[in-house]
Amino acid sequence: SKSKGRNRYEFFSYVIEEQAIEKRRKLEEIRVALKTDQFVLYYQPIFDIDGINVGKAEALIRWQHPQLGLVGPNEFIPLAEQNGLIEDIGNWVREQAIKDAAHWFRLTGKVTQVSVNTSPLQIDHAGKWVDEWLATCNKFGLPRDTMIIEVTENTLMDPDSPIQQQMHRLNQYGIDIAIDDFGVGYSSLAYLQRLDIDILKIDRSFIQHMETNESSIALVRAIITMASHLNVKVVAEGVETKGQHQILQQLSCDYLQGYLFAKPMPAKDFIQTYIKPLEA
Ligand code: C2E
Ligand code: CA
Ligand code: CA
Ligand code: CA
Repeated sequence: SKSKGRNRYEFFSYVIEEQAIEKRRKLEEIRVALKTDQFVLYYQPIFDIDGINVGKAEALIRWQHPQLGLVGPNEFIPLAEQNGLIEDIGNWVREQAIKDAAHWFRLTGKVTQVSVNTSPLQIDHAGKWVDEWLATCNKFGLPRDTMIIEVTENTLMDPDSPIQQQMHRLNQYGIDIAIDDFGVGYSSLAYLQRLDIDILKIDRSFIQHMETNESSIALVRAIITMASHLNVKVVAEGVETKGQHQILQQLSCDYLQGYLFAKPMPAKDFIQTYIKPLEA
């Protein structure tokens, strides 16, 4: 009936309005979180193929929310990207990751590479973003090749985008570039040649199915073979079983990341387990 239809319409517009209010509330909370230091970086170790030695770690942001407890990035990064707040979050992540990497470098005298996730929306076209990476490394006295920037394939798809120039500059200054979630995005691989990519991170969806699906193994093998010809290192993401580790060893993968070895953890725990301080 007509009145039923109207009620439904009113119900939906009510829901949409509620959602908009909820979004605005959350955005305001993110602003407060930035001002009052509620964000933290967790670190997930990236292992050599032996599954024992650790030379790298991925920085993964968390929100220590006063009421909700620890909130994962999927709950706030997409919203921040839609509303221009990702730049402020990105600035905070860069500063904290470089500060931590510099701390570990001073403790051990050797480089532990720190890999930082970057949304294409953070990369300004005029060059300020790259300048800030260089300036922050300088400020903390950190060798630039300590840092890795992770971007997804779609960030590098368009050869005419000014983002390409900025990634190129970054590379010239010695900061490493990793392709995140490799294999799930666009199919053009031209950027692998165009930019001097250092690392491919094979998406978990391929690793996950290797034990049950021959074609997943074939894909992972093809990626590793191609990468080795291009002198690009390969990280397998989301390794969860010994069987997957074994297959990756047989395929001569370079690095491993996943719950089988370690979950993301606070910096303090990472230092305790994986950073071996110099003897006094
Ligand atoms: P990602 O870059 O693909 O990060 C890997 C995600 O997989 C992380 O989730 C990690 O905790 C999880 N993971 C690692 N090993 C395993 C495993 O063996 N099994 C399973 N099931 N999962 C595993 P997390 O920390 O929730 O991060 C989600 C996404 O949020 C990241 O995906 C990344 O795209 C984004 N993100 C995280 N930190 C930042 C940041 O500082 N800036 C930006 N722009 N994005 C970030
Ligand atoms: Ca990543
Ligand atoms: Ca990934
Ligand atoms: Ca490079």
